[in-house]
Amino acid sequence: MKKESLTLVFATHNKNKFKEVKTLLPHHIELLSLDDIGCEEDIPETADTIEGNAAIKADYVSSYYNYACFADDTGLEVPILNNEPGVLSARYAGEEKNARANMDKLLRKLEDKDERQARFKTAIALSMKGKEVMFLGICTGTITKKPRGLGGFGYDPIFQPDGYTETFAEMDLSTKNEIGHRGRAIRQLIEYLSE
Ligand code: IMP
Repeated sequence: MKKESLTLVFATHNKNKFKEVKTLLPHHIELLSLDDIGCEEDIPETADTIEGNAAIKADYVSSYYNYACFADDTGLEVPILNNEPGVLSARYAGEEKNARANMDKLLRKLEDKDERQARFKTAIALSMKGKEVMFLGICTGTITKKPRGLGGFGYDPIFQPDGYTETFAEMDLSTKNEIGHRGRAIRQLIEYLSE
């Protein structure tokens, strides 16, 4: 039986993220970005958890624009630092959101620490038909002593996923997508939408 078509907003201004997710979704879903619906404002991310921020964005769009919507939020959590940088991952070293400065700050904080476990967490909140569903993608690993590799972005050069000898920045993108936090969360969303 042919699936009924569904219009869904992905609450992001990031064109690369949007494109990546759009290619993965089943054909009966028409995906719109924030720009497509005329939402130009930066939705305030004021929650103190990654899940909370994803939920705020999805709720905002479904309440003010009346669309079914999903939103994502990602952070790196280091248990020995009380799960820092967490929700502050993008601006850990300041509002300029500089990846190099963020990594340096984290490496400094872990300088004398042997316990270097960490996890990336992506939360995707889906707000649809008056209901909210949360999908979590987690990837565990360790923080290296020094940055390695040129690929990826953010904290990739200092994150070595469990079971691998390379950092995310040394891996090809398809491997990162397969084992990574964002890929895991997105696959759960797709499975749910395909049911
Ligand atoms: P966002 O919620 O996807 O915008 O991610 C927030 C911040 O977390 C980014 O600015 C990066 O610093 C970090 N981050 C998110 N995803 C990744 C990743 O896959 N690798 C490395 N850093 C990431």
